[in-house]
Amino acid sequence: MAAEEQRAADDIVRAARSVFTRGLTHGRTGNISVRTAGGILVTPTGSSLGTVVAGDLSLIDDRGVHLSGPKPSKEAFLHAAVLRARPSAHAVVHTHSLYSAAVSCLSGLDTDNVLPPLTAYYAMRVGRLPLLPYHAPGDTGLRDLAEATAVRRHAMLLSNHGPVVAGTSLAEALDALEELEETAKLYFVLRGLPVNPLTDEQAAALAPSG
Ligand SMILES: [Zn+2]
Repeated sequence: MAAEEQRAADDIVRAARSVFTRGLTHGRTGNISVRTAGGILVTPTGSSLGTVVAGDLSLIDDRGVHLSGPKPSKEAFLHAAVLRARPSAHAVVHTHSLYSAAVSCLSGLDTDNVLPPLTAYYAMRVGRLPLLPYHAPGDTGLRDLAEATAVRRHAMLLSNHGPVVAGTSLAEALDALEELEETAKLYFVLRGLPVNPLTDEQAAALAPSG
């Protein structure tokens, strides 16, 4: 493994452990990818982010085609689609985090922007959050939609499923994912109470670039 690939693999394992031990995903759910010179390193199918190790990772190309290593996650095509759409992005994190997944099951959501900008850090790290319609896990019918959405947004929420978040680095993607989950939690804590979200102007002044 090239030094760059090894570093990326180590980063993925560190991130996986962090996501898992902090309860941001559970069981064998969730997957993480990082773009390298030789392709996209991604967690393999059937793996737990709590136990995956660097030698377990799969390598796919930017079309999602398996190049080497174990069989990739069946959601790897989503990572490839988002990275294709966003040349500035280097990492993608997808989880089934509790509160984000809970929001994704609600009816009557604004599909262009699921959550209000409740806090400055949400406005800064996530911005607008589109909702993609339900597809069964691994259904590649979601590929074109995810790619088209990722051209405009680095974060999206899959209906009845969970968030997909890209970042220029893995750390940035994780920060955004975590902020999304905390805001989804706040959204439920505040449900039914009168709320003052940031104004459009306040949110726009903090918005990430795309
Ligand atoms: Zn999933």
